[in-house]
Amino acid sequence: MWDFETDPDYQRELDWAAAFLREEIEPLQYVVPNILDRANPVREALIPPLQRQVRERGLWATHLGPELGGPGHGQVKLALLNEILGALPTAPVIFGCQAPDSGNAEIIAVYGTEEHKKRYLQPLLDGEIYSCFSMTEPQGGSDPQTFTTNAVLDGDDWVINGEKWFSSNARYAEFLIVMAVTEPDGSPYRRHSMFIVPTDTPGVDIVRGVGHTGFEPLDEGTHAYLRFTDARVPKDNLLGGRGQAFAAAQTRLGGGRIHHAMRTVGMARRALDMMLERAVSRRTQGELLANKQLVQEMIAESWLDLEQFRLLVLRTAWRIDRYQDYQRVRGDISAVKLAMPGVLHRIASRALQVHGSLGVSQEMPFMGMIANAYHMGLADGPTEVHKTTLARSLLRGVEPAPGLWPTQHIPAKRDAALAKYADVLTTVGPR
Ligand SMILES: Cc1cc2nc3c(=O)[nH]c(=O)nc-3n(C[C@H](O)[C@H](O)[C@H](O)COP(=O)(O)OP(=O)(O)OC[C@H]3O[C@@H](n4cnc5c(N)ncnc54)[C@H](O)[C@@H]3O)c2cc1C
Repeated sequence: MWDFETDPDYQRELDWAAAFLREEIEPLQYVVPNILDRANPVREALIPPLQRQVRERGLWATHLGPELGGPGHGQVKLALLNEILGALPTAPVIFGCQAPDSGNAEIIAVYGTEEHKKRYLQPLLDGEIYSCFSMTEPQGGSDPQTFTTNAVLDGDDWVINGEKWFSSNARYAEFLIVMAVTEPDGSPYRRHSMFIVPTDTPGVDIVRGVGHTGFEPLDEGTHAYLRFTDARVPKDNLLGGRGQAFAAAQTRLGGGRIHHAMRTVGMARRALDMMLERAVSRRTQGELLANKQLVQEMIAESWLDLEQFRLLVLRTAWRIDRYQDYQRVRGDISAVKLAMPGVLHRIASRALQVHGSLGVSQEMPFMGMIANAYHMGLADGPTEVHKTTLARSLLRGVEPAPGLWPTQHIPAKRDAALAKYADVLTTVGPR
């Protein structure tokens, strides 16, 4: 059955979330500069009570299944919630489903020992600590075969050396999940292993903070350039088996990518809503912008961009729920991932344009949204790589044409039709 309606009980929850976002979360960004910064007493006074309300409502960490203490709503319902939360970057933290912690929790849930779960997973799920995923290196991110950070077993410890680049939230994280070469002679995708590395481990240093909008002061920003110098972690901090880092990374990246896309629907919708409001508020040459056909075109194109993308996201979420197998929906997730930056970029750019000079100023959020579109085209793998993944998945299993001509070659089709209806054509005669 095809059904585009949300069941009324869940719609009530979504309506509650939307009102909570508007009334409680939106004002936060003006008084809490960084929602992960636990050293800020204002943050500590304001955020935990809001998180408690979300918990009481049963909407905390809804990406998690019941085995991890979540309600296990599934990806379609998560998509509907995330498209509300995506309007504001701070909202996922209040609802306990922010990147990269949600993906890191999945890795520990799947590959961690009981001790890892007690020490790292539970506080992460409870929102008491934050985490970081360290895979990309300064010499390359798209091609994991270029990663050289290594870990060597020395007695009861792994000793890690190397550098990582663009590790988001490292500054606020209690621990890092680090990918390092442990099997230098292994096949390309079996050379790396994954480790839990507490951030206070001696030998783990932030070389500098890296910003992402181009406007932050140099050396500041929430993405860390990290250096590991003989950093020792206990043998047991290995996550999963030796050489299993790629399998573990896929566990988090599939979910992470679709969750970003769900939130992007929310951010793009916010830009469209602002564009609509401006169009019916601002006058030029004696009439509203809304009456100008070129503005109407921007509005119509933006709605089309958004709704087509949203349907693709919801369809992919439905396929994840249906098959419970990220490998099977890899092409679908790549499609969503590669559509996402363009959709957000186009809609936010049009919304900026309709606002004129106000739109380009720091008094409106459009430049931040456009920067975010570029992030979405890089984080969790660049668009180009996802294009090729999608194309490969579409090509898989396709048979070549049996002869020189394509199977849809019109002359051959015509000859076949003439042969098929030869009796009729002979009796009645061609017209
Ligand atoms: C906001 C943000 C947050 C991030 N957070 C994290 C994090 O928490 N942890 C982490 O480990 N990493 C993180 N990253 C890094 C991200 O994973 C890398 O940026 C990404 O994998 C690309 O690697 P690179 O930046 O080294 O680009 P490169 O690998 O140097 O690629 C540069 C460009 O080359 C082109 N290209 C690459 N491969 C191909 C190909 N196969 N075919 C055609 N063209 C290609 C693309 O245009 C690509 O953008 C983050 C990045 C951003 C922007």
